Amino acid sequence: MENKAWAAEKLADDPQYFDRLAHLQTPEFLWIGCSDSRVPANEITGTQPGEIFVHRNVANLVINTDVNLLSVLDYAVNHLKVKHVIVCGHYGCGGIKAAITKTDFKAVLNMWLRNIKDVYRLHREELDEIRDEEILCDRLVELNVQEQIFNLAKTSIIQRAWKNEQRPDLHGWVYGLKDGLIKPVYEMNAGTHIDELYEYDNL
Ligand SMILES: [Zn+2]
Repeated sequence: MENKAWAAEKLADDPQYFDRLAHLQTPEFLWIGCSDSRVPANEITGTQPGEIFVHRNVANLVINTDVNLLSVLDYAVNHLKVKHVIVCGHYGCGGIKAAITKTDFKAVLNMWLRNIKDVYRLHREELDEIRDEEILCDRLVELNVQEQIFNLAKTSIIQRAWKNEQRPDLHGWVYGLKDGLIKPVYEMNAGTHIDELYEYDNL
């Protein structure tokens, strides 16, 4: 591993580097991204340790029974007081590709990928028209990100922060593996109304 060389190089550049980071974490961003090894949050956004709080899972899903994700969200919103939550998918996502096959990936992966199949079903009319498989997958990547933004907005964690502190804004992005560029596909500012069925009025 390159850890020792990296630590020495950081210290040479900035003798206070680790002292500062060890005592302070004040990121303004929560990143919910794909576990894919090619999509590291800090690297592709040109940010440093300390700047982004990160959660990653297969196909960047926001599932309302996922205690891991909800704990990260709660901590980021209520304790770190992040101003922005980013859901970042990526074109060529293996999770998305797997979800539109009829392959049985066995119990656990089937459960996870089912959530993406649900996104497809919500947008079946548009997606069924697309003949090219790569274009189809890429469009589903975008729609999946949009759906995860809705899923964030449906949580009482986000709604309470919106009501009391007018933050965080929600950003849906897609990263291009082929060009390294991030494309914003869906934005939701703090306080945006969603389907009233999901809005809590006694927060
Ligand atoms: Zn992926």
